Amino acid sequence: MAEDPNDWEVATRLIRGGLARSPHGETSEPIYLTQSFAYDSAESADARFAGAEAGFIYARYGNPTVKMFEDRLALLEGAQACRATASGMAAVHMAITGLVRAGDHVISGKALFGSCRWILNTWAPRFGVETTLVDGPDLAAWRNAVRPNTRLFFIETPANPLLEICDIAGICAIAGEIGAKVVVDNVFATPIFQQPLKLGADIVVYSATKHIDGQGRVLGGAMLGETALMEEAYKDIARHTGPALSPFNAWVLLKGLETLDLRVRRQTETAALLADRLAAHAKVKACRYPGRSDHPQHAVAMRQMNGGGNQPAGGTVVAFDLGSRDAAFRFLNALELVDISNNLGDAKSMATHPPTTTHRSMTEEQRLEIGLTAGWVRLSVGLEGPADLARDLERALEAA
Ligand SMILES: *Cc1c(COP(=O)(O)O)cnc(C)c1O
Repeated sequence: MAEDPNDWEVATRLIRGGLARSPHGETSEPIYLTQSFAYDSAESADARFAGAEAGFIYARYGNPTVKMFEDRLALLEGAQACRATASGMAAVHMAITGLVRAGDHVISGKALFGSCRWILNTWAPRFGVETTLVDGPDLAAWRNAVRPNTRLFFIETPANPLLEICDIAGICAIAGEIGAKVVVDNVFATPIFQQPLKLGADIVVYSATKHIDGQGRVLGGAMLGETALMEEAYKDIARHTGPALSPFNAWVLLKGLETLDLRVRRQTETAALLADRLAAHAKVKACRYPGRSDHPQHAVAMRQMNGGGNQPAGGTVVAFDLGSRDAAFRFLNALELVDISNNLGDAKSMATHPPTTTHRSMTEEQRLEIGLTAGWVRLSVGLEGPADLARDLERALEAA
């Protein structure tokens, strides 16, 4: 009996999923750096363009290395179909615009990655699509925002930068009642801990730049869902607007997937430890970590970030408040190991001050609405030794 990849454990999916060897039998996935493909005959070209014959046509439509990445990620997520993109934002943009048209209404949590907020608030209105931003953890707020023309719910959970949690299954139930689609940005939770399609979402999007690469090398993104919806909503927009992932970057991301489970679990173990240390420190006014019982939506987090079973986990990012911008800057400037950087999910630990970096395009009032006062720091925990990281944080806190 041939192995059925759908029976494999996560670790096996990440190593073996999607592997399509060439006749050379290479062990590592080949990089097919080619834009186009030659056909055996004019009849064959005719059949491929007609969709009657399987095979690649042009790299904007698909490429064998990119397809290996898509197949591996789809197998991990338990999704029927995956489409890789050049960046996370290309995936978010396509995920949203492929599901709405002029006159439609979108509902989203207001704590969002800055560029996602820009697409909904600034870009989509130019094409006649309006968005209501609600308090993400408040299910009643999602229900109250529904209008007759609501077509799409957009969820980011845990949300950037204060890690608030939206109840994916609860929001999907509301969307289901009115026939709206649900898109989940699953970057912070990673596919290791949270699988939104199983909780009722229609589309899940990733910035593969973050944990999937995890080593600070390339940009990439992906969207996943059922084949019928992915074809109907996204096939033409992907072909004709060109957000295609480069085959080289797809190869880097394939290598990233091989160690994703190991890295994310280790980073999460260290993050949980550091979150407890930070929360107990006199200089820290507040510490947010979904794995801690004092997180306002801890119960929901543990229910949905459970690793597809009984392994609840808080993820790799911690946020904490030092009370003022000056204290936050003194802290950042005193770090010796941890980098001051706005990336996350990397093997290298990184800390940033969201109000002056990732969330600086929001007005002060908008920042206060999501609780982002001037002293917050966001820490992405990497793979360094936990004791070394704890010492670095301790030293920097003294300076704060
Ligand atoms: C980084 C990020 C994105 C955008 O991804 P890029 O690969 O940088 O384009 C979108 N959503 C979230 C939550 C992110 O953290």
